[in-house]
Amino acid sequence: MEENVKCLIIGSGPAGYTAGIYASRADLHPVLIEGMTPGGQLTITTEVENFPGYPNGKSGPEIMMDIREQAVRLGTDIRTGMVTEVDFSQRPFRCVVEGEQVILADSVIIATGATARWLGLESEKTYRGFGVSACATCDGNFFRGRDVAVVGGGDTALEEAAYLAKLCNKGYLVHRRAELRASKAMQQRVFNTPNIEVVWNSIPTEIVGEKKGFMKAVTGLKVNNKMTGNETVIPVDGVFVAIGHMPVTDIFKGQIDLDEHGYIVTKPDSTATNVDSLFAAGDGQDPPFRQAITAAASGCKAAIEAERFLLAETL
Ligand code: NDP
Repeated sequence: MEENVKCLIIGSGPAGYTAGIYASRADLHPVLIEGMTPGGQLTITTEVENFPGYPNGKSGPEIMMDIREQAVRLGTDIRTGMVTEVDFSQRPFRCVVEGEQVILADSVIIATGATARWLGLESEKTYRGFGVSACATCDGNFFRGRDVAVVGGGDTALEEAAYLAKLCNKGYLVHRRAELRASKAMQQRVFNTPNIEVVWNSIPTEIVGEKKGFMKAVTGLKVNNKMTGNETVIPVDGVFVAIGHMPVTDIFKGQIDLDEHGYIVTKPDSTATNVDSLFAAGDGQDPPFRQAITAAASGCKAAIEAERFLLAETL
């Protein structure tokens, strides 16, 4: 089945939904394909305090439901599914959803966001879902009253550690350097939490666990101390990896300009990519900020730029 649309939005975080709001109001009748995590990364966070309009804070999933509802009310055609193939070599752009449905789009807004980065250890793969996680909000509950480790020294790691400290007996924050990257406020919060111990200068080398038939369980995190060279096992039941994110842009490789880390390159002060009528918004295009509000703002810009581009063609 083939379908022609004026504006296709790929991705559904704050950038995608906001692009939907603006593109709908511009009569572009946008179709939005939600992707693997409808609502994006905010749906796996807890309380969000810094998104304007919620004076008392609100949960990430609730905020995303609000923005989604607004996009739907204004006319965005939101569909579940994954875009599995794109051809941006000529217009209309050809995008395939779930390997079968073809959408031919006059303009495309990419808002595919970013995803958690992993340590890359073989044992991490073995125990993922059996004690290794990248989302404390999703999986923290399984570790109530137990000991866990969080790997990383940025705001995400410290937020995860603070969240887990409320549920768990003890949390180890394992960081590869002697200085944290996180904001000072977040550092203070962690240093003031009695059941969090920071393990400095330590590089995770193995997730230690037990396997019994199909059952697997984490029993520790092996770390190498950079200063002493000593290898020790921190006895924990869960390991939360919080070492940053990677842009979700694999599908666009070779089709548009990406930087060496895979982030989409856009023109200065613009969401325009190197391909006419193709725009990018959100975390996949914004490595320095990567905030929900900056993603929403770039979604707005992308829709306005798509509208202006399509209008200019008709003049
Ligand atoms: P960051 O890139 O800020 O931090 C990643 C951390 O992981 C760093 O401490 C880094 O160490 C460590 N790390 C990276 N790779 C490895 C590895 N292979 N092994 C061990 N450790 C590793 O990512 P975040 O997700 O924490 O934050 C991203 C952005 O989002 C930041 O701008 C942050 O401020 C923001 N943010 C804001 C929040 C808020 O305002 N509420 C909440 C969460 C994030 P090193 O320091 O040595 O490089």
